[in-house]
Amino acid sequence: MSTILVTGGAGYIGSHAVLALKNAGYEVIVLDNLSNGHQEIVEQVLQVKLIVGDMSDRALLDSIFSTNNIAAVMHFAAYIAVGESVNEPAKYYRNNVVGTLTLLEAMLAASVNKFIFSSTCALYGVPQFIPLTEDHPQNPISPYATSKWMVERILSDFDTAYHLKSVSFRYFNAAGADPNGLLGEDHIPETHLIPLVLLTALGKSESIFIFGSDYPTPDGTCIRDYIHVNDLAQAHILGLQYLLDGGESEVFNLGNGNGFSVREVIETAKQVTGKDIPIIERDRRPGDPPILVGSSDKVRKKLVWHPQYPNLNEIITHAWQWHQQKHQ
Ligand code: UDP
Repeated sequence: MSTILVTGGAGYIGSHAVLALKNAGYEVIVLDNLSNGHQEIVEQVLQVKLIVGDMSDRALLDSIFSTNNIAAVMHFAAYIAVGESVNEPAKYYRNNVVGTLTLLEAMLAASVNKFIFSSTCALYGVPQFIPLTEDHPQNPISPYATSKWMVERILSDFDTAYHLKSVSFRYFNAAGADPNGLLGEDHIPETHLIPLVLLTALGKSESIFIFGSDYPTPDGTCIRDYIHVNDLAQAHILGLQYLLDGGESEVFNLGNGNGFSVREVIETAKQVTGKDIPIIERDRRPGDPPILVGSSDKVRKKLVWHPQYPNLNEIITHAWQWHQQKHQ
């Protein structure tokens, strides 16, 4: 049975990936500095080994690699707030780029050469065409997106020079929660649309702000491609199996291929929850392109990935189950 090191496994997407790894029969070790993750999720819910520490701690990494037979690394640990990255770029480049570089160097030293990377559709910048395909020009417009873009560059060069094989997944909008209610989305502070809408439905927040209602879209609000976090996690399992079978480095979009506007998300949440969700229309949020919808044809074909929950209603239903349980 292969052991997989999962950085950021105490976070939202990482924890769902750990569950998928366990279900697929892998041994898992989580490395997480708990800056945003949840210790009890790893230890009590997922029940895998948690090492509390930082990926920039080279001595810690060396000891992890020398005392465990790690077959591959799944790398979720990163700062993710686009707005914060504009104000604090040093924090983002140090953690997301320098931290990842340290991790990759420790892998090379330990002869571990398989790496799954959480990248982002934000590296395309403002779309020149929709749906976005992997060959769309790259023009990241925030330090967050640039940090992910830089790591993809590093991975390409590390393959050429050191034969480190990687799969980078460019996520669209990860959403939803484990359908069995074990895990969910719990960022502090929360900035994402679906959890904020559900917190409003729960009465934890008075209203939801719509950031921009004058976009060139049918209802004036931004359109995004929401992908169920379990489908996203499943793609990581397929990417891992692909690398373990000797696959070459690859980059894949991970989205649903369907776009939904902010108003459509709120309307669907009203139906799912049966609650009133008051809205307040605000100015646009800086850096938000009007439409981000991806083509995931490449991952569907090459990794034979079939999303199980492409339906927005189902994505919100699963998120709602988890939010209700958490706040009951
Ligand atoms: N959004 C919104 N109100 C909120 C949070 C988000 O109108 O309270 C909008 C945001 O402007 C974007 C979409 O919802 O158009 C999705 O934003 P989110 O932060 O969830 O993900 P992002 O697309 O930024 O990764």
